[in-house]
Amino acid sequence: MRELIDRLARQGTLEKEEFVFLLSHRNDDPGDREYLYSLARSRSIENYGHDIYLRGLIEFTNYCRNDCYYCGIRAGNTKAERYRLTEDQIMDCCDAGYGFGFRTFVLQGGEDPWFTDDKVCHMVSRIKDRYPDCAITLSLGEREKDSYQRFYDAGADRYLLRHETADPEHYARLHPSDLSIEHRKQCLRDLKDIGFQIGAGFMVGSPYQTYENLADDFLYLKELQPHMIGIGPFIHHSDTPFRDCPDGTLEMTLFCLSVLRLMFPKVLLPATTALGTIDPLGREKGVQAGANVVMPSLSPKGVRGKYLLYDGKICTGEEAAECHRCMEMRMERIGYHTVSARGDYKGWSRE
Ligand code: SAM
Repeated sequence: MRELIDRLARQGTLEKEEFVFLLSHRNDDPGDREYLYSLARSRSIENYGHDIYLRGLIEFTNYCRNDCYYCGIRAGNTKAERYRLTEDQIMDCCDAGYGFGFRTFVLQGGEDPWFTDDKVCHMVSRIKDRYPDCAITLSLGEREKDSYQRFYDAGADRYLLRHETADPEHYARLHPSDLSIEHRKQCLRDLKDIGFQIGAGFMVGSPYQTYENLADDFLYLKELQPHMIGIGPFIHHSDTPFRDCPDGTLEMTLFCLSVLRLMFPKVLLPATTALGTIDPLGREKGVQAGANVVMPSLSPKGVRGKYLLYDGKICTGEEAAECHRCMEMRMERIGYHTVSARGDYKGWSRE
């Protein structure tokens, strides 16, 4: 194990079988896991010091035309209480976030056709006009390249689109047949070609996921070279077909975070809300395993409890100010500090 971990740290990758070996033997000796975490933590500190970048997450619609089997806001979930924020409400979220020192706004939502390209562009330019010093990240799912180009031209800087799983068979077990990994990957390539800083990623412990699938995810990311990687544990939602599936674990998610940090020393790697949901100190442990980004919610209190991708989601009853303060304190308690910066990928510049 140690030899493989050292080689991963030195070379930034391994063969598929070696990743599978690493994953399947990760619990043989807890000392090995700690060793991996400590190397990943040092790698993160070498690149980012003890700075933790903040992203203000605005969950602006929970309408979705897709029916992903794992997701609480899937179209087929008739129990979900649907909402859309108005542009003014979104601006209010940005105003509050700017006041807290956030310099990145992440606009995330289900695939909601009501938000046409025109509406998205209008919203992006309005935010950019008011806050030219801030980065805008979009996470609206799959659209055509022309649409992505329009969003970029309107001022969006980054795009998050988790690939979910690189394996076509596994993808087909998580999604209905109108969705394909080929199109998802095409979207990621298009976004990168256009000039976005892109984020891909996957759920850890999603139903039917094997070690081979995870190894394929690592290798796909190596090929794609994204600027951000979003991973978090799968957590079941009671009103989805996967209601009885076991959740992903803290330990496996931390393990994957550390592997990714060693593979991608400079990548922007969030400790996600899902990680904070499966363990009260999940986000702190994520940072100690190599993550360097946190994404507190800026969504209005009235809608937070409706953007429910999975059961038990934390921070649904708090005001944005409380979430921000809580995050600052959590990071300080483990010797890190949240910073007021755009936090672009190192060396990235917009053409
Ligand atoms: N519609 C956009 C998209 O498809 O990228 C963004 C919103 S989507 C709800 C954001 C992410 O939530 C997905 O990429 C997925 O990985 C994650 N997610 C959905 N359901 C989840 C669950 N039950 N547990 C953990 N993460 C989940």
